[in-house]
Amino acid sequence: MKESGGRKQGATSPCAACKLLRRRCTQDCVFSPYFPSDEPHKFASVHKVFGASNVNKMIQELQEYQRGDAVSSMVYEANARIKDPIYGCVGTISSLHHQIEFLHTQLAIAQAELVHMKMQQFSSMSGGGGTAANSPKNVWSPSSQHLQSEVYSEFEIYDSVQQPQINI
Ligand SMILES: [Zn+2]
Repeated sequence: MKESGGRKQGATSPCAACKLLRRRCTQDCVFSPYFPSDEPHKFASVHKVFGASNVNKMIQELQEYQRGDAVSSMVYEANARIKDPIYGCVGTISSLHHQIEFLHTQLAIAQAELVHMKMQQFSSMSGGGGTAANSPKNVWSPSSQHLQSEVYSEFEIYDSVQQPQINI
């Protein structure tokens, strides 16, 4: 009988939230579906950063089907804030933005190199030897349109690769 009050409820142990807050976990506990007793760190984090009553409020304001995702994101945000007290998850977002920018630059360089290589290949095929570099434009013009369309299609591919990354 001296075993804590929570066990009187039967087989169910209190959720992680009620355990931490040292209160009785009732059947209609708003936390229990999202903070199981075997993952105590989840509630500990959100409680530390947002406060239990705010978390409670945020959960209650949402439709039931949205609550699981909301709790996951709150846990993620809270953990990020604990790990990085200055920038929190903004630090992660910022770092990913930098990575995207860096990769866009790398991609642009690679595309430019590809175009350059194609042009070199083309000039060695049609121009014939060292004179190609110094040859006048009109030697090039008949097939340069073909090359140009290839270059454009490369950039179309580049754009289609780029767009989904921006949306992330
Ligand atoms: Zn509970």
